[in-house]
Amino acid sequence: MNEIYFKSTRGDEKIVSSAQAIVKGIAGDGGLFVPTQMPRLSVGLKELITYDYKQLAYEILKSFLTDFTEDELKYCINSAYDEKFDTPVIAPVVKVEGDYFLELFHGPTLAFKDMALTILPYLLKTSAKKLNIDKEIVILTATSGDTGKAALEGFANIEGIKIIVYFPQNGVSEVQKKQMVTQEGNNTYVVGIQGNFDDAQNGVKKIFTDEAFNTKMNNNGYMFSSANSINIGRLIPQVVYYFYAYAQMCKSGEINVGDDINFVVPTGNFGNILAGYYAKRLGLPVGKLICASNENKVLYDFMSTGTYDKQRDFVLTMSPSMDILISSNLERLLSALGDEDTNRVRDLMDSLNKTGKYEISEEMKLALEDFVGGFASEEKTGKAIKDVFEASSYLMDTHTAVAYSVFEEYKERTGDSRKTVIVSTASPYKFTANVMKSVDHKFEGVDEFELMKQMEKISKVSIPEPVRELDKKPELHNTVCNKDQMKEQVEKILGI
Ligand SMILES: *Cc1c(COP(=O)(O)O)cnc(C)c1O
Repeated sequence: MNEIYFKSTRGDEKIVSSAQAIVKGIAGDGGLFVPTQMPRLSVGLKELITYDYKQLAYEILKSFLTDFTEDELKYCINSAYDEKFDTPVIAPVVKVEGDYFLELFHGPTLAFKDMALTILPYLLKTSAKKLNIDKEIVILTATSGDTGKAALEGFANIEGIKIIVYFPQNGVSEVQKKQMVTQEGNNTYVVGIQGNFDDAQNGVKKIFTDEAFNTKMNNNGYMFSSANSINIGRLIPQVVYYFYAYAQMCKSGEINVGDDINFVVPTGNFGNILAGYYAKRLGLPVGKLICASNENKVLYDFMSTGTYDKQRDFVLTMSPSMDILISSNLERLLSALGDEDTNRVRDLMDSLNKTGKYEISEEMKLALEDFVGGFASEEKTGKAIKDVFEASSYLMDTHTAVAYSVFEEYKERTGDSRKTVIVSTASPYKFTANVMKSVDHKFEGVDEFELMKQMEKISKVSIPEPVRELDKKPELHNTVCNKDQMKEQVEKILGI
């Protein structure tokens, strides 16, 4: 079997093992790690579709993480995909009125981030052990709301690791915030910042690439790593559920093995949909990857024009986990589209930093053909929630509703009749206020925890265990800082 290595998207030619890439999180030149070649799966599709979630995870992970042993991988997989999920299926495909929803919210924090953040701590610990790292690992994470909680939950009380999460103080839902500030664990730190998600993400990237600060950390026995989707330990586990969704579509007789299906993915940082692209490159029969944005439609504009321009107003929407103007993982797609020409990616990223925009070449535009962009206004998102609920009593969360709305529009515009899986990224219970308000105006202004009870009544889906007693939990974190004090917060927390 071919060994797979990883290298930066930006030009640093050094190649590293997957364990090194997972521990480092981001490449030294600020680029993202990408595989030096796409692996080949050792079994065919006919066989793969008979696998359960863990078996599939093993097959996919072993093809990318070739420096891990079978025992190591199985230990990580078995530790992650267990009773933390409220269904043994882990990621069910649910058919509702002719539409297919891939529900990725059955994990401990009710958002799709759990699909990767339940396994990342084990991958990271195993990597550190393999590399004989004797430093304490400090995970820095920027969150638009869901990553933070999922990472805190995944890393809480894991020995040898501390985790610091930065979230936009005024840019997350009530439930999201409450989930984070009530986090237990003697190694967890939660900091609200006065800024938006892009500020948080930029701040974290800056700290990661601050050489002097890294030396200081090193001298004090610490090193940084990342739980954001810039870490390949996040990205690769996400490839699994694209195969798994396909397998379920085959098993239930909706498609035949080999048929193309589309996926529509509610997108922010481009991590989820990029995993879908990797699945396609691994041989999964995928037609279009439909990239759904909310009113922060920088990706839609990019897909339709080839120009990425972040210079625009940042809109706070009811799908806050997609309120992002700098989609980090797009850099990995650019790398793939441009034949991994690292100079080209570096130039584009330099241009983004300096001028706020970049334009890709004509040939790269042609290579974008696997993708199609769409976006949904706030009004359309709300209407989608209401329409689907009235037709079927199925309640979508606000992010899933963006995808649904974009898909409806896509179908109408193109007449594409291939089966399409709507990637459902959060439970409606995470965004109770906006979901309920969309169903009926009478719910506007009602307390979010009271609304959960109402939601339970109308949807007949019980309040998920992780949020049932959330309003009674004590708030353990109350630090707030300015967006340029993020480094000082690290120093304070670590006492260095
Ligand atoms: C993070 C998140 C997204 C966006 O996913 P990306 O990988 O950042 O594109 C969409 N929906 C929900 C609920 C999320 O938590």
